[in-house]
Amino acid sequence: MSLTDAIVKVSVPTPFPVGDVNVYIIKREPLTLIDAGPLTEKAMAIIADSLSTLGHQIQDIEQIILTHGHVDHFGLVRRLKKESGAKVYINPKDNSNVTEFPEEQKRKNREGLSKSGVPLIIMENTVNFIRDYGEPVEVDGYLLNNDVLRFNNIVFKVIHTPGHSPGSICLFEETKGILISGDTILQEITTNAISIAKEERGELATYLKTLKMLTELPVNIVLPGHGDNFSNHKLVVKNYMKQYLKRKQKVLRSISVHPKNAYQIMIDIFGQLMGMNVFLGMSEVLGHLDILINEGHVTSHEDENQIIYKIKGK
Ligand SMILES: [Zn+2]
Repeated sequence: MSLTDAIVKVSVPTPFPVGDVNVYIIKREPLTLIDAGPLTEKAMAIIADSLSTLGHQIQDIEQIILTHGHVDHFGLVRRLKKESGAKVYINPKDNSNVTEFPEEQKRKNREGLSKSGVPLIIMENTVNFIRDYGEPVEVDGYLLNNDVLRFNNIVFKVIHTPGHSPGSICLFEETKGILISGDTILQEITTNAISIAKEERGELATYLKTLKMLTELPVNIVLPGHGDNFSNHKLVVKNYMKQYLKRKQKVLRSISVHPKNAYQIMIDIFGQLMGMNVFLGMSEVLGHLDILINEGHVTSHEDENQIIYKIKGK
């Protein structure tokens, strides 16, 4: 059995704007899932079916490795763990997201968006929407940068790739150049560096550093968290960079007319978004604003309990 035969991709539907999520079964010892999908009956059935075509069942899963702490990737873990007793591993920086779901997410959103101008009702709707697709998970251990994972004779190295979330990790197999990337690098959609909460602010800048680091790795094939495999990861990163520069210009243009809060900037750029998309749009805008403030192009001040951004010196 070749190495690529040992890694089986399972495409699991999600109710989120991102579409399907990829779960990878590593058909070696220990029998492992990389990510698990959201908490839905459909996700559970698809994973059970895929295992059964490989001669296994849910009870056989020995460990679940989470590429990061977002609910489309971990929502089903508690249920899988209950049935299989599988051990669950994650990077410590995303730990509280899964162990204290959904309260931790709520706290981060409320705190991060409180002075941004986002109407309270929109904020609450977003949080309440994700709540139904996950359960808090008990974590058994942490995965740190350079940790080594062995599946019989297959060896993956853990690479800490902060940006999409503070605790995002990729798994890298050096002999064949296989990168299991989570959401750190995707081909079909541009990854969002989630930077809503105070402790996550600055994540876009961190993310750009992570992307640069990944272009220096000898990667032959990327197995992403969403969408098809791809092999041109350097080109994908190049396109990301172009996109980010364009967005940054749009943010600047939006406030060059007159000072605005982050929500007004988001509407300028993306139009009137709904649900989860508000959260993603705000995250992008806040990420760019952080960078623009750091670079000295933009300043902010508080006015009537809102943070207002303007072009420096204007
Ligand atoms: Zn994610």
